[in-house]
Amino acid sequence: MQTISVRCKLQVPPELRQEIDRTLSGFADACNQILSVAKRDNCWNTTKLHHKVYKPVREATGLKANHVCQAIRRVIGNAKAVKEVHKFRPTSLNLDTRTFSYIEESQTVGVTLMCGRVKFKLSIGNYQLALLKGQSPTAATLKKTKLGDYYINICVNLPTEPTGKTPKVIGVDLGRREIATTSTGKTWSGQQIQAVRDRYSRVRANVQSKRTRSSRRLLRRLSRREQRFQKWLNHNISCQLIREAKELNAALAFEYLTDIRQSLNQKPRSKTERRRTNNWSFYQLRMFVQYKAAIVGIPVVFVPPAYTSQTCARCGHVHTEKGKSFRNGKKFKCLHCGFEFDADLNASLNISALGMSVIHPESPGMSCQLEGQLSL
Ligand SMILES: [Zn+2]
Repeated sequence: MQTISVRCKLQVPPELRQEIDRTLSGFADACNQILSVAKRDNCWNTTKLHHKVYKPVREATGLKANHVCQAIRRVIGNAKAVKEVHKFRPTSLNLDTRTFSYIEESQTVGVTLMCGRVKFKLSIGNYQLALLKGQSPTAATLKKTKLGDYYINICVNLPTEPTGKTPKVIGVDLGRREIATTSTGKTWSGQQIQAVRDRYSRVRANVQSKRTRSSRRLLRRLSRREQRFQKWLNHNISCQLIREAKELNAALAFEYLTDIRQSLNQKPRSKTERRRTNNWSFYQLRMFVQYKAAIVGIPVVFVPPAYTSQTCARCGHVHTEKGKSFRNGKKFKCLHCGFEFDADLNASLNISALGMSVIHPESPGMSCQLEGQLSL
């Protein structure tokens, strides 16, 4: 089973907007109050914190009982996830079975707000419909975007085990030179894409220097156009990845994405290069892959990114010494066994091998596995 969240846009009539906003700010207030108590008493246990804050917070905010329970969970959850939580903003609301329901026949959701239960129609496409089919989700998050739209992220559990055994794992390396490289040798070249994005960025820099009202409008339009381009391409890449996985009856393996940004940022780089790396939405690409994989029943696994680009895919030798990296631009050269290879492909082979050990823990050691795959 794999839990993914399905993002659905809500159709909100104008008169209900402020009802949502009122609940959102009540929820943020509650979180902030709970956080200050938790910090003051250094209490990070859900039950203990509940005893301390439930009554006073409910009275102060006027929230429903379950909203307060969710606020406590949110505070504890955030505290565990990040080192220092400062402040909660009124942009999201956690919902559970008592405050949320999904009605498949009418494509609506019931959400409990401060004023009571309210129904909203969903405006969603085929992806979301397919993912929500036959589901009775038990958790969701209501969100308000910067532009003032409302979305609900519905958590669903999807079976990922395909019928029969999955003998293969396609490793996918996401990087800066190429957007994606697979262990089966496919690449989505960053160059051509980069040309398009550089053009957007040049126009943007030009417009930005003007700082008038119309230039700000143009800037917004530009960035939306760039977003559409990115979305289109990510859809495209994810479709092709899924198709290949389906054909080979293989699973897909990726690195944890949060770390890609970090590891790429370790090296001091030019401003241009930094923009190029950080702007590409690998997160979006991964989400698309997860959606589509879930629909067709292809397992997606994530592997730790440590050393995937410094390990030799043939002999398994790890070259970690700083400055003595055997990755030289686009080439990877192993001084241990003499293996020379495309650097991205080398990384994707390592990701594939790691993915294999996640899916088949009983499989033989990593380097043996790789020998077999290289002879493909
Ligand atoms: Zn080697």
